[in-house]
Amino acid sequence: MGYSDTVRKIYQDQIQDIKDAGLFKQERFIHSTQAADIEVEFPAGAGVKKAINMCANNYLGLSSHPEVVAAAHAGLDHRGYGMSSVRFICGTQDIHRELEQRVTKFLGTEDTILFPSCMDANAGVFEAILTNEDVMISDRLVHASIIDGIRLCGAMHDTFKHSNMKHLEKKLELHNDKRLKVVITDGVFSMDGDTAKLDEMADLCDKYDAMLFVDDSHASGFIGKTGRGTHEKCDIMGRVDIITTTFGKALGGASGGCVSGRKEIVEMCRQKARPYLFSNTIAPVVVSGVLKVLEILSKSTERRDKLEANTEYWRKGLTEAGFVLKEGDTPIVPVMLFNAKLSQDFSNDLFDLGIYAIGFFFPVVPKGQARIRTQISAGHEIHHLDQALDAFIKVGKKYDILGKTKNEIIQMYGA
Ligand SMILES: *Cc1c(COP(=O)(O)O)cnc(C)c1O
Repeated sequence: MGYSDTVRKIYQDQIQDIKDAGLFKQERFIHSTQAADIEVEFPAGAGVKKAINMCANNYLGLSSHPEVVAAAHAGLDHRGYGMSSVRFICGTQDIHRELEQRVTKFLGTEDTILFPSCMDANAGVFEAILTNEDVMISDRLVHASIIDGIRLCGAMHDTFKHSNMKHLEKKLELHNDKRLKVVITDGVFSMDGDTAKLDEMADLCDKYDAMLFVDDSHASGFIGKTGRGTHEKCDIMGRVDIITTTFGKALGGASGGCVSGRKEIVEMCRQKARPYLFSNTIAPVVVSGVLKVLEILSKSTERRDKLEANTEYWRKGLTEAGFVLKEGDTPIVPVMLFNAKLSQDFSNDLFDLGIYAIGFFFPVVPKGQARIRTQISAGHEIHHLDQALDAFIKVGKKYDILGKTKNEIIQMYGA
């Protein structure tokens, strides 16, 4: 039997179902480095086109920064290419320890442990520190990787309505009898760009003797006055017990993640977290790059300041043009189109005008909330933003949505 025609047909039918539902994801091939100006092949086999990238997590514009690239080269020369081992056998170099210490200092925590990715950090941390006597209480919109980590853990799980502190308090009361309680949230939510109410959450955690867990992947490096993250913005530095974050976004954008927080929790992860114990950690070349990123960010807030100014400029431009945006002040700026097909057509028209910004629709965002999620970078110059704005306005005029309200757009296109 093996991989028979019957087996093949089962998968072919499922793939066709995905296509029929309009949910088939097609990748775009970038022929350049990751930056504001990129060269894109889309669709596959078409020619390569120049475009301005408006949807990368390259918030600080460090993905191809010459100093980071040079540091990575030096790391390659001095510590080689691979470790060929997990950390606890013979896969730990001095630079891995150095990076953990530097991240601890940057985030203002007690200790840090590296993981191959933030996905792995989230997958490993809960199981390592909780048992079936404990409870995890998570915001309903947390990242998929947190949901997977929760699934892998034997502790009880409950949720609270997105950013609803009354509901969270109710759940904390409900679970007051549990041995350990962990409140779980993203710092900045990736789809809407809104910020968790971490100050209120920290107070509730104090009141109910719960730990606070924050995934700051869309915040580390640029949110807060000196870019430490959401805990800095909300003025609760030192009060988050567990922070997970990625090096795959603002902090150089290569790969890797970590758990940073209370030293006993970090130690428990070192002893027990399965993605740490059974998977190679970050390659030396990447460690060297992230070390340079942290050095750059610790010297000056220039990049996050530029990002903030760029974000204000972009939001103001879109608002004045008459687009419906999600409210917020982070570099995640969702342009709301509500209708799934409109979001795809809009994105394709933008690409024809040299602007690369992807449309998101169900199930990535709730039904009727399709959008183009733009993400601003310190790598953008004003001329990039002006060119992108011109294109958005052109396409907005084509679909006659400028100055229209949410309800008017839904009336025209459906939700
Ligand atoms: C991107 C992201 C991750 C995954 O990060 P990787 O290091 O790429 O695995 C985890 N959590 C959140 C909130 C993210 O946005």
